[in-house]
Amino acid sequence: MDIIAEGHSKIIYQTPDNDRIEMYFKDTATAFHNIKRAKIIGKGQYVNKISAFLFQQLKTAGVDNHFIETIDDRRMLCLKTEVLPLRVIVRNSAAGSVCARFGIKEGTVFSEPVYEMNYKSETLDNPFLNEHMAVAFGFVTHDEMALISHIAHQANKVLTEVFNKCGISLVDFKLEFGRLSNGTLIIADEISPDTCRLVDKATGTHLDKDRFRHDMGDIINAYQTVLTRLNYGRL
Ligand code: 5GP
Repeated sequence: MDIIAEGHSKIIYQTPDNDRIEMYFKDTATAFHNIKRAKIIGKGQYVNKISAFLFQQLKTAGVDNHFIETIDDRRMLCLKTEVLPLRVIVRNSAAGSVCARFGIKEGTVFSEPVYEMNYKSETLDNPFLNEHMAVAFGFVTHDEMALISHIAHQANKVLTEVFNKCGISLVDFKLEFGRLSNGTLIIADEISPDTCRLVDKATGTHLDKDRFRHDMGDIINAYQTVLTRLNYGRL
């Protein structure tokens, strides 16, 4: 199959059906705009399985996304979309860049979820984007922006509940959106410990990519814990 795109952690293949793609999850981990890079054996499998599980949960709750089915340990079949050049970050409590930028203490729980957007460009350091810019730059319409906000809000509710049930706090996460050939906007890309901050409620341990970003070790163990808890819906 032809490769449509290859990123740091995934390869996207065109399938014989023009409306479908295959996503292959690699074992590569990158951080800080690819300055830090490593191979973490087995990571791709966990990201694939956790993403599939979360996409399925969202689907069941009526939050549309590109996931169709799991193909094998490292690959999933998805609807083909034109991915928007923006990312939505949803934050329930303070961590990462929001602490650095606003001087907010890590762990501060926000009175309501924070939604922010940035322009997808590693070379430009993913600059901040607001609705006016996203519309004026031709990325989306105002109506599409309203829909994106609604979907992000719904996704946060569903995912927070899913993780709560297994003793994990959903601190923040990144969403990407794609446009189907009929113009419909849906969630694309992946939702996994690579794109979410997940903290064990009992111990405060990070079960996400911060373990790689900040050299905390035990990455595979953490991802396995997330998958096991999701599958069993319990501690
Ligand atoms: P922050 O803005 O604090 O760096 O990230 C907020 C959330 O979005 C975190 O859950 C983080 O994992 C996710 N995120 C932001 N940017 C990226 C990125 O470039 N790659 C990945 N995998 N996740 C990101």
